Amino acid sequence: MTFDFRAAAEAVAAVAREHAIAVDSTASFPTATVDAARMAGLFGLISGTDVGGHGLSLRAATHVIERIARECGSSAMVLTMHYCGTAVIEAHGERSVRQDIAQGRHLSTLAFSEAGSRSHFWAPTSTARADGKHAVLDAKKSWITSAQQATAYVWSSKPCTGSEASTLWLVPAKASGLAVAGAFDGMGLRGNDSAPVTASSVRVPLTSRLGDDGAGFGIMMGTVLPTFAMLIASGSLGLAEAMVQKTAAHAGGTKYAHLPTQNALADLPTIRAYIARMRIQVDMAKALWQETLTALENGAADAGLRVLETKAAAAETASSVGDIAMRVCGGMAFRKEVGVERMFRDTRAAMVMAPTSDQLFDFVGKAVCGLPLFG
Ligand SMILES: Cc1cc2nc3c(=O)[nH]c(=O)nc-3n(C[C@H](O)[C@H](O)[C@H](O)COP(=O)(O)OP(=O)(O)OC[C@H]3O[C@@H](n4cnc5c(N)ncnc54)[C@H](O)[C@@H]3O)c2cc1C
Repeated sequence: MTFDFRAAAEAVAAVAREHAIAVDSTASFPTATVDAARMAGLFGLISGTDVGGHGLSLRAATHVIERIARECGSSAMVLTMHYCGTAVIEAHGERSVRQDIAQGRHLSTLAFSEAGSRSHFWAPTSTARADGKHAVLDAKKSWITSAQQATAYVWSSKPCTGSEASTLWLVPAKASGLAVAGAFDGMGLRGNDSAPVTASSVRVPLTSRLGDDGAGFGIMMGTVLPTFAMLIASGSLGLAEAMVQKTAAHAGGTKYAHLPTQNALADLPTIRAYIARMRIQVDMAKALWQETLTALENGAADAGLRVLETKAAAAETASSVGDIAMRVCGGMAFRKEVGVERMFRDTRAAMVMAPTSDQLFDFVGKAVCGLPLFG
């Protein structure tokens, strides 16, 4: 029987709705929601059926992330990074790890960004050297979502040998020599537990390498980038959709008692025009998002370019829509009751997550002008 991922997403979204405010106000990991996702079978959503997963597509994952993001940006972020790590492990990991993910025993994430190369995640400065049957890793990772909660990190380093840009590894979160800097206390996505992690002579078996030595860049571009960009876009669009709905509800239900008629905020043409702009922006970005999924599924020649466009469009749309929501909902938006200020803060992360919006504008501009992306 086909897994009803829409029903699963709906059930997990209900848990996310219940806990989102506390997750944000206490900056705590969304344990209840992530556990609900695990129990609903969503950890294994894109895992192969040969290891007990549901074998579903990126499109199914985008639906799940968009739906959960409407309630809790942090939970959507944690699951986004889980699916990104899963995509790499599905293609290059050991069967036992794939089984653990499929059956909800393994929470994955990416450990790409570094203190040295910052948002240029494709150029790690951290090192790996072979020592018998092990690799020895040294690194200063600057951000790892679910740093204290993940089972293992999908980790980038320079290759052991050769001049390629990178090699990927699976590094258990409890490996000796790893140190998490501490709890996350950020402006938005406050429950995503994204922290710096240092590695001092961390030893992992050479068999935990994901792909060939030096193959990291290709895996980042071919596997991680489409998954990450489309799922981060889904999170942005879920937040944006929720802000449209919350803003419309606030405008419809907020009245000026001294005005006998036309007394709701929504009766003001200016307010309605702002809400219309929000709706149009979100629908435009959603249309691109859906078309890019189709382009990916059909192997369209321009699918890669559309992936880059989609992440930028969704991040910028969510940010812009959040800005309008804060204006339209007035002073009330500054307080927590309306619920848009948390989402406004959450939207700010996507545009600085690598590849950042400004990098994407550069890449898309280069592609349109026929120039090489890197170089
Ligand atoms: C909430 C959150 C969770 C995260 N989780 C993870 C994770 O799980 N794993 C992971 O690996 N990383 C993660 N990151 C890191 C993220 O992907 C980026 O690497 C990080 O946000 C970059 O921040 P920085 O200050 O180092 O950026 P910088 O590189 O210092 O960039 C600063 C500014 O310069 C601009 N800029 C830089 N280069 C260019 C360019 N070539 N062209 C135009 N503009 C440019 C950027 O757009 C940005 O506006 C996370 C980040 C956040 C905010």
